[in-house]
Amino acid sequence: MMDRRSFLWSALLFPITSKAMNNSVLNKVFSSEEATLPMPVLFVGHGSPMNAIEENEFVTTWRNLGKSLPKPKAILCISAHYETNGTHVTSIAKPATIHDFGGFPRELFAVQYPAPGSPELDYATKHLVSKAEVELDEKWGLDHGAWSVIRNIYPLANIPIVEMSLDYNKTPHAHYELARELSRLRERGVLIIGSGNLVHNLRMVAWDKVNEPEYGFDWALQANETFKKLITGNNHKELIGYSSLGREVQMAIPTPEHFLPLLYTLALKRENESVSFFNDKAVMGSLTMTSVKIG
Ligand code: ZN
Repeated sequence: MMDRRSFLWSALLFPITSKAMNNSVLNKVFSSEEATLPMPVLFVGHGSPMNAIEENEFVTTWRNLGKSLPKPKAILCISAHYETNGTHVTSIAKPATIHDFGGFPRELFAVQYPAPGSPELDYATKHLVSKAEVELDEKWGLDHGAWSVIRNIYPLANIPIVEMSLDYNKTPHAHYELARELSRLRERGVLIIGSGNLVHNLRMVAWDKVNEPEYGFDWALQANETFKKLITGNNHKELIGYSSLGREVQMAIPTPEHFLPLLYTLALKRENESVSFFNDKAVMGSLTMTSVKIG
């Protein structure tokens, strides 16, 4: 048995690199020495919570994604609806389905999505991130940013889910840098999903057009095109600095929480990985469902 002094000496003489330490954390928690091909990364525009129970083209695309993606071991979801003081990850064996909205039909409040949590993934996430002191959160659960989408992608609720919060004190750049540290989860079969909306201005919803399947104000469509162009061009710097992107973008992002999950997704893109868009439509005038798949 090594005493404390010789342990300290061996640590000094054979410093463990952070990469090696990350590997040992990942191997320990995912009980596999073998890294897999990197899982794709998604940014999903979630839109109205009613997408959880409605039939429409967005939901159909989500279902098809579930069939076409490699089966993940677990999901790490960064949702617009989980904002905290500091960065938290949910650490719950059976996360509750949180109905974090009002004014919707009773059948939406009746929805339960009983996917389990993942102690392996919350532990690994906490230890991979050095840019924040990640707190394990035993109180949250799954908010609708996560479950309204994921219950359509994985209707069997058999993939464990951990949510990671958005620290409302962080700058967009700090969110992006933190997200980069999650990259190695991709080789461990973790599907990382950012859930928000590129264009999201609830104060400007076109209430007279809510029953039209697709409707976007000119400024919303323009902002959406700007975002897509910058995403395709790998111009992450300009997206991080979205506050200087002009009037349309300011109208699209009145508050940052629905946009920031995109930065988490983009931060995980590797050189030469492909980017594609799905559900690229505007709804209710001032929202877009435009979503991004990397890899
Ligand atoms: Zn939302």
